[in-house]
Amino acid sequence: MSRPLVFATRNRGKLVELRALLPGIEVLAIDEAEARIGRAIPEVIEDADTFHGNAAKKAREVSAATQLPALADDSGLEVDALGGAPGVYSARYAGDGGDAANNAKLLAALTDVPIGRRTARFRSALAVADVAGPLGETLLTSEGSCEGVILETARGDGGFGYDPLFWSPELGQTFAEAGVGAKSGLSHRARAMRALAPRLLAYLAGGGPEPLAGSAPTR
Ligand code: IMP
Repeated sequence: MSRPLVFATRNRGKLVELRALLPGIEVLAIDEAEARIGRAIPEVIEDADTFHGNAAKKAREVSAATQLPALADDSGLEVDALGGAPGVYSARYAGDGGDAANNAKLLAALTDVPIGRRTARFRSALAVADVAGPLGETLLTSEGSCEGVILETARGDGGFGYDPLFWSPELGQTFAEAGVGAKSGLSHRARAMRALAPRLLAYLAGGGPEPLAGSAPTR
């Protein structure tokens, strides 16, 4: 019987999206994995200075704690007028205040920046570790990004994080207006997952790591 894949995230929004992007795979949320192994999985300190570094760390630590394959996403928003901030600090841009505080801080930082200079992109780095399985120390990795513009006021009530402020020219609406279905066609995470899926599915089906390992960045 194939082993399940653990999603190394406690972010419900990410979980919903990642599950929609991997139909047909048995996936365990962190709390489900904890119930399965009968103990808590320690929080991972995200102290790397790249999305890839944090994704690799989360995947390795959760795989080690569960002895199962683990998939991690590390992602965030880069705003050109802010020199790429909040970047890897996106989740805690405004400290522990959560999404509303992060969005308020972002709008304040962009006061007086005209709409033509409010360009931004979401980035996602994915990593799969299976420290007790054939992958060993090797990771499967991929990256994806998605271009957009930070609006002056929030629009829509779906999604999570910066979705209400992130306007996608490809959709003609914010990610919060678009919802999971439309977002899963072109988001940073969807692009990273499309790049990873063939290698991940082959690995979970028993193909082993040799021809599968490595990184395949998308735009
Ligand atoms: P992480 O758990 O360190 O990867 O935090 C990612 C943070 O980046 C989230 O808490 C959000 O603030 C932001 N973020 C990443 N992806 C998205 C997205 O798809 N929509 C909105 N915000 C996102």
